[in-house]
Amino acid sequence: MPAEPMVNSCMFCDIVAGLRPSTRVYETETVLAFRDIQPAAPTHILIVPKKHIARIVDIAEDDVCLMGELLLAAKVVAEQERVGDGFRLVFNNGATAGQSVFHIHMHLLANRRMGWPPG
Ligand code: AMP
Repeated sequence: MPAEPMVNSCMFCDIVAGLRPSTRVYETETVLAFRDIQPAAPTHILIVPKKHIARIVDIAEDDVCLMGELLLAAKVVAEQERVGDGFRLVFNNGATAGQSVFHIHMHLLANRRMGWPPG
């Protein structure tokens, strides 16, 4: 059984392609940021590579630059949202860690108090 869904059934690939609605907040050639449909904080944005990669453990050496671009996008989005002073970035890898969509996405959460350790 494959460890990841087929690319042609990926919800975030559909969002990237514009086949599914989303509230886009930032976009480059390689990265897209859009608002989470079920926000876990007043500001909750998902930053995804346009290329389909299912999980962090599926990243290859060729993806190193792309992953850096996600972080750069997070910086820009945080500035845009005026939360540069305090935000949290989260990747869930695998169902056990809470990953429910198998297309890598970085959660940017802000505008509420963050506990540590995270739940
Ligand atoms: P994770 O549980 O880490 O895989 O995160 C998946 C996130 O995607 C959750 O926070 C969901 O609320 C969010 N989500 C699922 N479907 C959509 C969608 N169509 N548009 C925006 N966010 C979504």
